[in-house]
Amino acid sequence: MKKQADLIVTGKQVFTSASAGKPKRGAELGAADVISGGAVAVMGGRIAAVGSREEILDSWEAAPGSIIKTEKAIVPGLIDSHTHPLFAGSRVGEFILRAQGASYQEIAAAGGGIKSTVTATRSTSNEVLMDATRAVFMRMLAHGTTTVEAKSGYGLSLEEELRHLLILAEIKVQIPLEIVSTFMGAHAVPPEYASRREEYVRCLIGEMLPEVRKRNLAEFVDVFCEENAFTLEESERILSAAKELGFPLKIHAEEFSNSGGSGLAARLGAVSADHLLRASGEDMEALALAGTVATLLPGTAFFLGGEYAPARSFIRSGATVALATDFNAGSCMTESMQAVLSLACLKMKMTPEEALHAATINAAFALNRAGSKGSLEVGKDADLLILEVDDYRLWPYRFGVNMVNTVIWRGKIAWKNYPL
Ligand SMILES: [Zn+2]
Repeated sequence: MKKQADLIVTGKQVFTSASAGKPKRGAELGAADVISGGAVAVMGGRIAAVGSREEILDSWEAAPGSIIKTEKAIVPGLIDSHTHPLFAGSRVGEFILRAQGASYQEIAAAGGGIKSTVTATRSTSNEVLMDATRAVFMRMLAHGTTTVEAKSGYGLSLEEELRHLLILAEIKVQIPLEIVSTFMGAHAVPPEYASRREEYVRCLIGEMLPEVRKRNLAEFVDVFCEENAFTLEESERILSAAKELGFPLKIHAEEFSNSGGSGLAARLGAVSADHLLRASGEDMEALALAGTVATLLPGTAFFLGGEYAPARSFIRSGATVALATDFNAGSCMTESMQAVLSLACLKMKMTPEEALHAATINAAFALNRAGSKGSLEVGKDADLLILEVDDYRLWPYRFGVNMVNTVIWRGKIAWKNYPL
């Protein structure tokens, strides 16, 4: 007798990202794990079986409307492990200035940058912020993202940061997307503390972090360790305090300069260090040794017109490499992880297999979600995509268009393009 599934999906290819509980590093990152003529059976929102079409259809059955037979590629839902989705206003003025040659840091020094978004966000109502942020998440979902990390950091006061984290918590229960909140009060020193930054650092450590912990409003804590943001010493104090409160850590490191953020991440056992454009060989080794995920954000390099992180060196170093959008108003205005896959291949010379693993299983490690997300393996959440193409390699090859046909989140269709 056949076993009963809630849903069965078949495809010309099933790209599984199967990893047996470990992140993919070095040569393993580039090894294909593809079942040609494959299928996935889903029960209770989880993956019940993965195998060849014959195997699955011989031993599983589902109601007639719940068997989706395709000749397309099936891949795990994408995991965007670094985004700043909650903000008001736009920075299109800066976009135009940069197009004319101004740098991100020149614009920040002239009063633009993160601070201008903070001003706009603080004066925007809950309703407007909620609608705008929900729309961002829905665009991410439509482009194949099924798990997303979302940072606060455009409030920069206790009251505002809590307001933003509460908005994220409310959206979490409204839409078919796993949202992982990160507290990033250390995104910038707010303008009212410009001449007394030490007071802001103390406020972060003494008031904001404990309150976020008490209310259980964030899973991770992140710090922008950079010239014009937080020094290495300040970053260490803030992250150490967060660690003491039990938060797993993330850090924005070596984006514009080599500030020592990677070494700090490794020392403190951070879950991920992100950006890393200016990382040295020593930084890479330290991250590899500590098991800290190196999250690369090529969309930001593209949007700011700068250099790209040395992905090939990172892969050679044995570090766990992940990819994310860094979606934000100033330095990367895209919700599309597909765009990131294309940039990773074209600009950072990653192979399609490497890019896909970095955006699925390794990104799951960057969010402490590898037990339930990131690959098509039995027991994990049934988060998967049916693509418009029949070969996963044709996915990053296309850019600027959505090649996702169907998004399945926890075993249910969460978004669908026109019928296959
Ligand atoms: Zn960021």
